[in-house]
Amino acid sequence: MSANQSALLYLLASVLFILALKGLSHPRSARRGNLFGIVGMTLAVVTTLTITRRIDIALGMMVLGGAIGLIVAKRVQMTQMPELVAAMHSLVGMAAVLIAVAVVSNPLAFGLESPIPMGNRIELFIGTFVGAITFSGSVIAFGKLAGLGKYGRIFSSAPVAFRGQHIANLVLALVMLTCGILFIGASTDAQWTPFLAMTGVAFVLGVLVIIPIGGADMPVVISMLNSYSGWAAAGIGFSLNNSLLIIAGALVGSSGAILSYIMCRAMNRSFFSVVLGGFGGAEGEASTDAGQKSVKSGSADDVAFLLGNAESVIIVPGYGLAVGRAQHAVKELVEKLTAKGVRVRYAIHPVAGRMPGHMNVLLAEAEVPYDQVVEMEDINSDFNSTDVAFVLGANDVVNPLAEQPGSPIFGMPILEAHRSRSVIVNKRSMAAGYAGIDNPLFYMDRTMMVFGDAKKVVESIVKALE
Ligand code: NDP
Repeated sequence: MSANQSALLYLLASVLFILALKGLSHPRSARRGNLFGIVGMTLAVVTTLTITRRIDIALGMMVLGGAIGLIVAKRVQMTQMPELVAAMHSLVGMAAVLIAVAVVSNPLAFGLESPIPMGNRIELFIGTFVGAITFSGSVIAFGKLAGLGKYGRIFSSAPVAFRGQHIANLVLALVMLTCGILFIGASTDAQWTPFLAMTGVAFVLGVLVIIPIGGADMPVVISMLNSYSGWAAAGIGFSLNNSLLIIAGALVGSSGAILSYIMCRAMNRSFFSVVLGGFGGAEGEASTDAGQKSVKSGSADDVAFLLGNAESVIIVPGYGLAVGRAQHAVKELVEKLTAKGVRVRYAIHPVAGRMPGHMNVLLAEAEVPYDQVVEMEDINSDFNSTDVAFVLGANDVVNPLAEQPGSPIFGMPILEAHRSRSVIVNKRSMAAGYAGIDNPLFYMDRTMMVFGDAKKVVESIVKALE
């Protein structure tokens, strides 16, 4: 295949990737978007195979990687998706570092001159340090999300902070930069020491940037690492002179950055404090005093009575709905209520669950009609005219403490379930949510708790309604 033909096919694949992103921006067009992505990626892989010099190695690695990916994808639970995403990002980061090592040790094999020209050295420097930070940062994010705190404090979902953390990060960043500059200006004989030192410092920096971030801020971290992995891939694309890698990397990098920005807004965090690390320090420290207050609790029959006699109901799904896999039961419940003339809608918080869009995906899986699913900013003003807010396995995203100055989550936008005429909360216990703080919503006079696994509770409500 000629260089022009492969460039054209790469361009086509890039257009398909852009169409895929566009499609994924709405649940209604997400399937079409996925299809564009699959076709684009197939085209990209096939084109790359036709221009690769060692097709045997490329195919072998693809089969091996594809088999591992298939096994992992089949086994992973919906609630473990963020961990999987973090693990994937770490691989992209490591791939960028390994490719850079290969290029530095044998530039001729990658079509570069030896000694490596300065422009390529700058690209290698950027691709390597971003890749190394992405790798170690993603490993820490994986550990935090997977609850590996018992294997080491650095994986604790609570923020890990120490005195002078920002200064240490700054010094390390400067050391990394200095080593990078030395690498860029070094002769072939003297390049390895600054290159390896720069890579090592970047690995350490990745750990230090992520450990102080509390569990409640993890969604931003995940999309930020997503962005980093894209930029690392784009940097390596320049070194390999591969236009597709540059375009795809830039698409991932910029869409991850935009998603981070949107999520920062949704959690009332400043984008720059996220990029610099070391935010969200208060979340893990807040304690719960649940034991000293009393709550009203009811049975599935009580809930069925309240819901069946309401005119309007807003269901607030959260992480517990995903854990309990209750989405199909909830859909059945809503069908029953709608048949009785109750107006039911679902309110979606941007960070409900454990990954962006988690709730949308769950509800789409149960084939919930899209017009019943309403985003936070569109439904919040409706809560005070709603008879019942039914909070299903959600906690932090409905915590009214977010409206109280001085609270650890002050300023985080929430679904204002506490403003509705009555509130029903389903969860298994009085345990705190991901942010680790107590929730005054549970203790309100207008609130009734119904304890138990979301799926079992909703199935019992459906039975009671019958
Ligand atoms: P939370 O984690 O705040 O609360 C979920 C609640 O569900 C828990 O209090 C738990 O209580 C309950 N629960 C768990 N299992 C079940 C079950 N089987 N049946 C019924 N209830 C159950 O979830 P939210 O969705 O409200 O908030 C999301 C949190 O996760 C936010 O803090 C967000 O920042 C964070 N996060 C979000 C990400 C994203 O991208 N969306 C990524 C990473 C973190 P109990 O144990 O008593 O049952």
